[in-house]
Amino acid sequence: MAGVIANNYGSFPVVFVKGKGCTLTDVMGKKYIDFVSGIGVNCLGHAHPALVKAVAKQAKKEIHISNYYNSDVALNYVEKMLAASGYERIFFGNSGAEANEAAIKLARKYGWLVSEGQIASTSGAPAAKADKKRNVIVTLEKSFHGRTITTLMATGQDKFHPDCFAPFPEGFKTIRANNYDDIKTAFDDTVCAFMLECVQGEGGVNLVDAEWAKSAADAARKAGAIVIADEVQTGMGRTGTLFASEQLGFDPEVITTAKGIAGGVPMGACLFKGIVKDVFVSGDHQSTFGGNPLATAAATAVITELTKPGFLEHVTETGEYIRQTVKGWNLPCVKDVRGKGLMIGIDIEQSAGAIQKNCLEAEPLGLCISTAGPNTLRFLPPLVLTKKDADAGLAVLKKVLESVK
Ligand SMILES: *Cc1c(COP(=O)(O)O)cnc(C)c1O
Repeated sequence: MAGVIANNYGSFPVVFVKGKGCTLTDVMGKKYIDFVSGIGVNCLGHAHPALVKAVAKQAKKEIHISNYYNSDVALNYVEKMLAASGYERIFFGNSGAEANEAAIKLARKYGWLVSEGQIASTSGAPAAKADKKRNVIVTLEKSFHGRTITTLMATGQDKFHPDCFAPFPEGFKTIRANNYDDIKTAFDDTVCAFMLECVQGEGGVNLVDAEWAKSAADAARKAGAIVIADEVQTGMGRTGTLFASEQLGFDPEVITTAKGIAGGVPMGACLFKGIVKDVFVSGDHQSTFGGNPLATAAATAVITELTKPGFLEHVTETGEYIRQTVKGWNLPCVKDVRGKGLMIGIDIEQSAGAIQKNCLEAEPLGLCISTAGPNTLRFLPPLVLTKKDADAGLAVLKKVLESVK
């Protein structure tokens, strides 16, 4: 069976049959602690009763109706999401890449409206010179924004731009995160948006400094550009606040989010407000499945849990607990432990792939972990991870780190 799925992932030869909370069970009955949660997706863990109930109940009523019409579930979700986030508009897609595509189109249209003199820019500055269109999007080196041909170009890592996929779309340039010199020259009247991840996930769990992010956002707006936070991975409570941009304090005009948003049902969203809130008009951008009743029912269950008192504090505390525990081991092979909330990166001496494989194969209990680069382990456990499950998983990791050279 595995042989007939397109060979794009290099998947491990393990077959999971079920999950409960933070534990997965394979076809042989072996259990694994899950520090991956479907790459930051299963935020409520596996088989969470509220999520299961919401999906089952909605499946009996209506799964999909198209965006020709409204559904009560989607309308109810939008109200909850906008209230929780403070944003004014939402566009639904089905993935992170699609959420970013929506943000890119929004930014380009914003830039075009400014160039045409139809709206004022974030700086209030007049339209760009007629021969200069405001359409460049500035992103960060080491960023990751998705796998469509355009979001690949937004991604600031050359390995994602091989010749075999050329030609790539124009209108993207990168600057270095936390570099003040780059801010000075990056933004001019050709730039429509500055797009950044608050913690670079795929790029190595790299933290973006709050002061720098604010300075960069200020520089972007002074040049008339909007700011987009790609919170596909950092959003929906992953870092201990609903969105990580709240902690960095640069108040983006646009937020994109996906992974955890519906607890495992495919969904992505682009949230926007203020100067760009009415940039999209009917027909500008659409998606067949976007925000369908099944996905928004699941997303409603997720946001209801996330906004319960103490939920996000638990994320912050458990993340800190894991980082302190790993640091406390004082293992010479552990070079750095970092992260925000339950988005955690650990630099190690060994090959991250070897540690990942050995954790999975550990007996009697396995551990699922992710990597972010050749020597970086990445943990994105369910946000409901208990200390007991954290300890069980960390015990597996410690043994593997001590045994693998
Ligand atoms: C995962 C990810 C994406 C892409 O999301 P898909 O759902 O795989 O399309 C985009 N941006 C960031 C920051 C991500 O972590």
